Amino acid sequence: MKDLWGGMFDFNGDGVMDIGEEYLAYKIYEAVTEESDDSDDEDEKPYRIDHPHYITDDESECSVCGARFSKKLLSCPRCGVRFDSVEKDEEEWYEEFDEECAWDEEEEGW
Ligand SMILES: [Zn+2]
Repeated sequence: MKDLWGGMFDFNGDGVMDIGEEYLAYKIYEAVTEESDDSDDEDEKPYRIDHPHYITDDESECSVCGARFSKKLLSCPRCGVRFDSVEKDEEEWYEEFDEECAWDEEEEGW
């Protein structure tokens, strides 16, 4: 008859209680896992990548969909996410700066 309770109220230590304990442990594990999933999402908040340019106009990029736009917007014009932070990528500035220098040198050579 006591099996009807699935061992949940069995305190005589015959081992059946372990199922309830396992269940509770699973529920706690599940809750903890859900919490850590939430913090993972915070790590992947959308951000805007600003690309300063030397020759052409500055560009900004969406970290989610990769859209490029010329204004420093707070949200993406393509996918609509709100940017949580801004990062700067000056690689393209240096590339254009190098191009400009190479071009100037060529011009001087004439
Ligand atoms: Zn986007």
